[in-house]
Amino acid sequence: GVHEPYVRSFVRKTPNWPREGVTFLDISSLLADVRALRHCIDSLAERYGGGHLTHIAGIDARGFTLGCALAYRLNCGFIMIRKAGKLPPGDDESSSLVSEEYEMEYGRGQLQVPADLFESSSVTTPRVLLVDDLLATGGTACAACNLLRNAGATIVEVAVLIELSSPEICGRRRLKEDAYIDLHSLL
Ligand code: IMP
Repeated sequence: GVHEPYVRSFVRKTPNWPREGVTFLDISSLLADVRALRHCIDSLAERYGGGHLTHIAGIDARGFTLGCALAYRLNCGFIMIRKAGKLPPGDDESSSLVSEEYEMEYGRGQLQVPADLFESSSVTTPRVLLVDDLLATGGTACAACNLLRNAGATIVEVAVLIELSSPEICGRRRLKEDAYIDLHSLL
């Protein structure tokens, strides 16, 4: 086994980036360390192994890394929640996209999945765990939950590697109040 301080030691903190007053947390080194990576996936697999999940959904792009490894481990399908502009727009009903807007620091972003995401699958009632690297305000995760619900899924929980919280920022509360979803965080 690996202890939490070991995993934590691989999260790189860059003060005043991408702008003054903000500290950026990066998981590149964590993913590159086999023991740290395995610890994170094992710990999530232990929590969600009996949860009857059908899919793991990851948010573009760091949510893809942990999410897809966990999906394979739990014998689930994987859903890519894309940032706008990555998927071709559909030209008919069966190939269209569902979109959800969210607040960014400057302006608005958009998350998208294909509208027929679950239609060709054998799963009729998708039960989905949403995964990302980090939760701050919770705005992105709330939008992702709305998006998945509009695509026909039930969201079981949101799991992140790193939960930021401060007197000003409480993404956990926002997720609960706005999307009625609980958060699980490793760090
Ligand atoms: P939120 O919407 O404010 O909760 O921001 C969370 C989203 O922004 C996630 O998709 C994160 O990947 C990304 N994000 C915000 N801050 C950081 C950071 O310090 N490091 C890495 N990703 C971040």
